[in-house]
Amino acid sequence: MLGTLTRYLRFMGYDTRSASDLPSGNPGEDSVLLRIAREEGRILLTRDRELARRGGDGAIHLDGRDAAAQLSTLIARGLVEPVLAMDRCSLCNTPLRPAAATEVAGAAYAPPAEAGFEFYWCVRCGKLYWMGSHGRRLAERFRRLHPGEDPEQTRRQP
Ligand SMILES: [Zn+2]
Repeated sequence: MLGTLTRYLRFMGYDTRSASDLPSGNPGEDSVLLRIAREEGRILLTRDRELARRGGDGAIHLDGRDAAAQLSTLIARGLVEPVLAMDRCSLCNTPLRPAAATEVAGAAYAPPAEAGFEFYWCVRCGKLYWMGSHGRRLAERFRRLHPGEDPEQTRRQP
């Protein structure tokens, strides 16, 4: 239910597990989530108010569907520094490593190696990452989430 937030957190380098990656249909899923969070020292993020209540100090209830608003909640609590890290796969959470030349050459969607980008590789997904226009837009979006660095807010101040 927090898919966009999950991807954003991984782009920021945070080790983020998603309930969507667990086998579904488990009637005790809430208890499983609480146990995993406790055993792995994770904070449970959920839109389920009751689950957050059960998680106590180890859980945070997030409202709504807007990932930027959810991130702002985490920033305000001092849990997240919104900076693009590009060191973790946004799809599967695996740490990225520098891509080999053959991996860059083998990805049809990649810009040419001569373009001067640094490329990173997820060994699990076989997915190539680099700091292109998408990454720069994300970095800019994250930068605007910093308190006091929102150009809209700055403009409104006298
Ligand atoms: Zn991956």
